[in-house]
Amino acid sequence: MTKISLSDKEIPTHYYNIISDLPESPPPPLNPETNEPIGPEMLKPLFPKALIEQEVSQEKRIEIPDEVMEIYKRYRATPLYRATRLEKHLGTPAKIYYKYEGASLTGSHKLNTALAQAYYNKQEGTKTITTETGAGQWGMALSLATKFFDMKCLVFYVRLHYKQKPYRVSYMRMFDAEVLPSPSNQTNIGRKFLKEDINHPGSLGIAISEAMEKVSDGTIKYSLGSVLNHVLLHQTIIGQEAKLQLEKDDEYPDVIYGCFGGGSNLSGIAFPFIGDVITKKKKVRVVAVEPESCPTLTKGEYKYDFGDTAETTPLFKMHSLGSDFIPPKIQAGGLRYHGAAPLVSHLVEKGYIETMSAKQSDIMKAAKIFTQTEGILPAPESAHAIKGAIDEALQCKKNGTKKTILINISGNGFLDLKGYEEFLDGKLEVK
Ligand SMILES: *Cc1c(COP(=O)(O)O)cnc(C)c1O
Repeated sequence: MTKISLSDKEIPTHYYNIISDLPESPPPPLNPETNEPIGPEMLKPLFPKALIEQEVSQEKRIEIPDEVMEIYKRYRATPLYRATRLEKHLGTPAKIYYKYEGASLTGSHKLNTALAQAYYNKQEGTKTITTETGAGQWGMALSLATKFFDMKCLVFYVRLHYKQKPYRVSYMRMFDAEVLPSPSNQTNIGRKFLKEDINHPGSLGIAISEAMEKVSDGTIKYSLGSVLNHVLLHQTIIGQEAKLQLEKDDEYPDVIYGCFGGGSNLSGIAFPFIGDVITKKKKVRVVAVEPESCPTLTKGEYKYDFGDTAETTPLFKMHSLGSDFIPPKIQAGGLRYHGAAPLVSHLVEKGYIETMSAKQSDIMKAAKIFTQTEGILPAPESAHAIKGAIDEALQCKKNGTKKTILINISGNGFLDLKGYEEFLDGKLEVK
């Protein structure tokens, strides 16, 4: 089949918590002052209780609340496509399938967790949620989710991408979100960086620090679009759906490709399959693809580090390029992060996830091939997964092997066309 759908009744009813199946839990976050594992009291000002519980839960399946499911049904299940035209173009014996999260209401996978996080916040009386956003996809998702659950939203949008992708600002404002370019003059850390450079491009690490500074008195909570266990948990609906969809075609993947920024879309598609590797001795390779210019998993050190630039978060055991690392100005803003999800780092260390990186110009070429063959314009982030899959499919052609490849297309690229224009005109700043 070219396109495989699921009925509303077939949508998975629970999130899948991979931690319950791991032989060894990932190392815990530490309090930077004591170097002891953090207690819930350190997270309490930031997140509602339900999300803190999910962060440390050992339950295998966590039920998706009805109120969230109602909204999921407006765009889920997202389609799974067989990339027949891409396969033909490459002349590969491999089968390539892609899950299209770009079909969500906001155009990316981020809405899956935004809705869950907004729901639990609303339940516990939060009035405003503040957050950071890189390329703007997370800000869009949280703007919609907070509006649907009748709360306010304050977004610190990394300045480089605020300027590159201004229509994402307009979109957030359509939902009444307040959007500030980061670094901003609204926080101490923002003012510090603006003093150094009035046009500072910003980074996710700085924007996280700004949002965290705004958290106060129980009514303004903070929300993160990737990295943390509960965020990865919410994204597992992607892989569970994909598994059901592939079953309808009598398929199971040999290898899965996802792009890697903080780890949420890769985890979302891959964790339900890695669960099979652990509990059912299935064999699936999972590959994280990141930009060569922000090589967190391929070149970063596996160590305890801060999640933000101002060093206000707990210490996380993760691959890191250093919390002061400001990534080069690439178009895939969602991948410009110095750190990684501790859970993904742990799985990389244990050999469940492989890593690779690719040059921006090669990523953009892969995006163009995909657009011309499949007719879907991917986000530049998602194009990293496409690049990985194309390389794999060409390897299959060389060796005459018939693998089944699964890709997560984490978002669409309609609001990233400025970046594609720079590529087409040969004007990309980073090659
Ligand atoms: C945010 C984003 C990413 C990167 O974040 P992960 O947590 O690594 O998934 C990738 N693709 C899109 C479309 C995004 O919006």
